[in-house]
This record gives sequence, structure tokens and C-alpha cells, in this order.
Amino acid sequence: MNRQHIIILGGGQAGLQAALSLRELGFSGMVSIITNEPGLPYQRPPLSKGYLLGKMRAGDLALRPADVLAQQNIALIAGEAISIDRRARQLSLADGQRLTYDRLIIATGSRGRLCPLPGADLPGIYTLRSKADADALGAGLAQLAQAGHKAPVLIMGGGFIGLEFAAVATESGFACTVVERGTRLLERALSPESAGYLQQYHEQRGVRFHLATQVAGFCAGEQGQVGSAQLTDGSTLAAQLVLVGIGGIANDELAAASGLACDNGIRVNACLQTSDDAIFAIGDCARAPHPLAPAGLRLESVGNAIDQGRLVAANVLGEGRVWQAIPWFWSDQGSEKIQMVGLGAACEQSVIRGDVMQGRFSVFCFQNEQLRAVESINRPVDHMLARKWLEQGLSPTPDQLADPNWDPKSLSKSSASPPVPG
Ligand SMILES: Cc1cc2nc3c(=O)[nH]c(=O)nc-3n(C[C@H](O)[C@H](O)[C@H](O)COP(=O)(O)OP(=O)(O)OC[C@H]3O[C@@H](n4cnc5c(N)ncnc54)[C@H](O)[C@@H]3O)c2cc1C
Repeated sequence: MNRQHIIILGGGQAGLQAALSLRELGFSGMVSIITNEPGLPYQRPPLSKGYLLGKMRAGDLALRPADVLAQQNIALIAGEAISIDRRARQLSLADGQRLTYDRLIIATGSRGRLCPLPGADLPGIYTLRSKADADALGAGLAQLAQAGHKAPVLIMGGGFIGLEFAAVATESGFACTVVERGTRLLERALSPESAGYLQQYHEQRGVRFHLATQVAGFCAGEQGQVGSAQLTDGSTLAAQLVLVGIGGIANDELAAASGLACDNGIRVNACLQTSDDAIFAIGDCARAPHPLAPAGLRLESVGNAIDQGRLVAANVLGEGRVWQAIPWFWSDQGSEKIQMVGLGAACEQSVIRGDVMQGRFSVFCFQNEQLRAVESINRPVDHMLARKWLEQGLSPTPDQLADPNWDPKSLSKSSASPPVPG
């Protein structure tokens, strides 16, 4: 094994983690990361937060300094992979290189869903996935700011990236409107309680929301840039800059073209291995069965990229570890710190602890009286405790949590409600 060449396709959070973990586990063969982005692997979360606000410099985005990669003998190869020849175990790059692998880890991430509407190609309409996107968006904001008036900014999609950008835009002095086709914000990601609180928070900062309606198209303004958006409810909104934040799509086309099973992500088994024994897939591009979602789960989060990067390294080296890490995620919106753990989509009952009015509370989500997910707003202690509970299979009862005098730290295996399968 130690004479083998492991190629990691994609130099993002998951790909870099896999490379570092291979070395931590003692693999001394060749490790190469193929990346189609310039520079070192970098973190994406600041792109919609501190980096756009100018609170973080480009150099600080790198996940590891260059000398760490050199010390670990991890080769970073710049290039766009264009095909996988599974029979020959070769990866072709756009510049003509053909690289032979013994094991291939696909970590190609995801991209922003495109907006197929009339006028969507007008200058001034942006997406936000990469550093290049953030630089273009930041330049667009700076140009509007120079014009010296409170230019209207429109955000298409009331998800995490849209709301994080809304916080940035208002902090930078822009008038900001969010158009969301759902009847509330973050419909698939957060409980109505947390989403309602966040809507109020943004409204207090001046953000206007148009819910249960959609953008139908864009029109050019005086300079040929975007100037307005028409909504399906018949109204027109002025918009001198637009961010499209309507979800992500797995970068799985290369895998699909090589005959690997794909369906909203590259299908892998619980050990993150594709139908080809020599190929694994991780991070945003992979869809794997999970104890909480046996039919398959594709997550777009840093926590998942790190967990799967570590796990795949062990499995490539011959272990058979199963992916069962409890999902977790965070989002910073202005002063608000939102943390989530577990999967809350199918929850039937929720209990709130803390003070919603003060903006410090957690929503504990239950299904069959079992704790399934916890959302914490400015309550990091709850989040850490809930992570421990869910990782250990512990569940307080809804009654315990509803009792303000009950001490969550007192929950132990003996006092927890017995686990219910599923
Ligand atoms: C703006 C933004 C804010 C975010 N904020 C948060 C947050 O607050 N909290 C959180 O938990 N998560 C957040 N995320 C999500 C998190 O950053 C991602 O889930 C994580 O980066 C996924 O890692 P990955 O390695 O799977 O994919 P990526 O980091 O996207 O890396 C994939 C890499 O593969 C490259 N690639 C693709 N195809 C090819 C090819 N053919 N050849 C060569 N290279 C290729 C891509 O260009 C990219 O560099 C955010 C994401 C974005 C975009």
C-alpha cells in the first residue's frame, strides 16, 4: 500500500483533510491533490461573512500554509480533471496530463444552482461559492458604495448564504431585500421558531422580505447593469446588485460520465466507496447512507467535509469504518451565532429553552419522544451538550427539557429515555 499513488480530485475542505489524514495514519506513498482553483486550499465560510466585510484578508483564508503541504509531501497539482478512465485507473487533465492512480478520492464539492430566468446574465448578478465569486461580489459592492447612495441590493433565496450576505449588505449600508419562494425562511433547514427569530432580527436591521413569491426575471438599468427584478406576484423591485443564493448542486458529472452511480451526488456506500472499489467520494459531492437517513444523505457543511475526509483516509488504507457522524453546522449572521446538530426535518415536537426575546435560546426537536436535532442561537453551551448527547445516543425527555429547573448536565445514560430505533 505504501508504494501506491492516491489521487484526490478536488482541493477543498474535504480533499485536503483526506490528504492530511492519510499522512497522520502513516501512509507514505504518493498523495496528489488536483485543484482547478488558484492557490492553496481555502475555507469557504468566511466568503459570505468576514472576508466580504474586509475583516479577513485573502491570505488568511488558506486552510494550511504551503510549508505544511511540502512537509507532508502532498503534491498540489493545478489543473481541471476532464475524464476518469476507470479501466486504466487514469485521470486526464485539460492540459493533456494523464495521471495514474491506485486509489482515487473524488472531492469535487458543489456549485451554486444557476438562475435560468430572463436577464439573469446581466452584469451585477452574482453567485457566491468561490473566492473568485467573493472578490467579484465585493468589487460590485465597492462600486455601488462609491456611487454614494443607498443602492438597493436584492437577494434571491432566503437560505444560509442569502441571509449571511443580507447581514453583510446591511452592515455595509445597503438597502436589502430578500425574495424567497417558500412561505418562510430556511424551510428545509431550521424550525419555524428559529427561522422566525432570524427573520425578525434581519428586519430590525432593515432587511425587507418577500416570502411565497419568486423572481420572474431581471431588467437592465441605465448603465446596462441589472436595474430591477420582476416578481411573480406582479411587483417590481429596484435592484442594482443581485445575489443568487438558491442552493447547491453536486459536482458529480465527471463521476457520472465514467459510469459511477450518481443521483443528487455520487452514490457511495456507508464506507464512502463508490461501485468501483478503487474510487471513493466525500464532502459536498457525495451521497451516502447514514443511520439517520438510510436512503442517502448529501451534506454541504465544513463538519461533514472534515468527518468524511478523516473517515475515507482510514478506509482507503483498508479499514471498514462506517459513516455515522452526527451532522453539525453553523452560520453567523451579523451578531447572531446559529449552531445546529442532528437532522431536524422530520421532527414532530419541539421544546424551547432560553430566552427568545433576548436572542439566546435553543430549539430541541423530537420525533417519537427521541431527541433528533438541536438548533442553538447564541447558546454554544447547549450546542456542545446536545452534540455529546446525540453522539452518545442519549435523549432527555421533552418534559425534562420543558422544566426550567431541570439541569441538562445531569443527563446520563441511566436517566435518559431509552432509545427508539429510526
Ligand atoms: C459562501 C459559503 C459559505 C459557507 N458557510 C458555511 C458555514 O458557515 N458553515 C458550514 O458548515 N459550511 C459552510 N459552507 C459550506 C462548506 O464550505 C462546504 O460544505 C465545504 O467547503 C465542502 O468541502 P468540499 O471539499 O466537499 O468542497 P469544496 O470546498 O467546494 O472543494 C471542492 C473543490 O474541487 C474543485 N473541483 C471541482 N471539479 C474539479 C475538477 N474537475 N478538476 C479539479 N478540481 C475540481 C472545486 O473547484 C473546489 O476547489 C459554506 C460554503 C460557501 C460557498
